[in-house]
Amino acid sequence: MSAFSAFMHPRDELLATMSRIYQYRMTTTSGGNLSIREESGDIWITPTRVDKGTLRRDDMVRVDRDGTVEGLHPPSSELPLHQAIYRARPDLRGIVHAHPVALVAFSAIHQVPNTHLFAKAHAICGEVKFAPYELPSSKELGSTVAGKFLEGSDCSILENHGVVTGGISLGDAFQKFETLEFVGRTIIKGRQLGEVRFLTPQEIELANRRTSVRGEFDRQAPSSREKELRRRLCEFVHRAYRQRLFISTQGSFSTRVDESSFLITPFQVDRGTLDPEEIVFIKDGKCESGKTPSRATPDHEAIYRHHPKINALINASPINATAFSVTNASLDSRTIPESYCLLRQVERVEYGVQYRDSEALARRCSVNQPALVLENDGVLVCGGEILEAFDRLEVLESTAEALVDSRSIGELAPMPEKALRGLEVTFLQM
Ligand SMILES: [Zn+2]
Repeated sequence: MSAFSAFMHPRDELLATMSRIYQYRMTTTSGGNLSIREESGDIWITPTRVDKGTLRRDDMVRVDRDGTVEGLHPPSSELPLHQAIYRARPDLRGIVHAHPVALVAFSAIHQVPNTHLFAKAHAICGEVKFAPYELPSSKELGSTVAGKFLEGSDCSILENHGVVTGGISLGDAFQKFETLEFVGRTIIKGRQLGEVRFLTPQEIELANRRTSVRGEFDRQAPSSREKELRRRLCEFVHRAYRQRLFISTQGSFSTRVDESSFLITPFQVDRGTLDPEEIVFIKDGKCESGKTPSRATPDHEAIYRHHPKINALINASPINATAFSVTNASLDSRTIPESYCLLRQVERVEYGVQYRDSEALARRCSVNQPALVLENDGVLVCGGEILEAFDRLEVLESTAEALVDSRSIGELAPMPEKALRGLEVTFLQM
């Protein structure tokens, strides 16, 4: 993750990660703690009883390998938990512990979220363990959870408490934490719509086999048009991340530069902190040297080739629309004129088409079919330019949320044919 670079001081890394977790309401001001273990064995950890909303870099605490504490505050009371996990797993360098709502819901019903919901989530989080209850801050909690990590899992739900994730860096642990919370939220939303569909190991394998590796070219100096598009793409990626239309490990965003080239987000770079230089330039099927484009690149490439009027594409995973992707509920856009005009009829694409056959996916998408639900893989929207695609994504998510909410108050009364024809004649020039 670029935000957690090797050159960042542990104080700053802890601060940036905690702010992110707190800002997205993935912890309360009193709950949650993070740590980093350095090469030397020293542990940097967030302090105890300091308001997460006003935390500063100087508030972070260092605990030497012999247990000597250095800092303005005592270390988090969960220090024994962090120490026990690091002892059990010498490969880990970062730990996140918090009480995010969806995972607390799982912890309170004594279940773990099934990561077979999305291929990527399974690749990032692996299997999740369940650690039996122990008193918070106790040595017993440490040894129980460390035992689960010793079995090889990097994610544990703590019975009637919360979650712990570990990683080869704090950034890695954060990605697991955020992804697992997203899986939990999607399952909860999905269950409001019906039966939730999970993937078989073969289906997960299909997605993970996909590669975007291709020939490279040494690029010339970028045009000012390309520079402008890089900046705009980046701004919208950040906006989408802030609005939780994707999480840091998911989502691909691209825009056409000319008939033979386009810009796309890179593979596995944190969406929350993406820089314009990290965006990847694809020309005549080749990639600018030294970069790895998103794995959705072959799909976007095929769609641009088939549809000259499409100039921007987004794969995203906003929570409500994604809940439709993991169930058989139909995302009916006939709710209000805005939804129908921008989304037309939202079609569902059966799982795996996007991995097996980009040409087939390109045939399913068009200016008249601009929004697709991809089974167990979120959504795909297109537009004549970046803002239009982004607007469509927002409308898709709002429509999905309204549909989920409407279920608890009554039955959907879709706009009648006559009203739809009126919209088509007036706004869609069919
Ligand atoms: Zn806790």
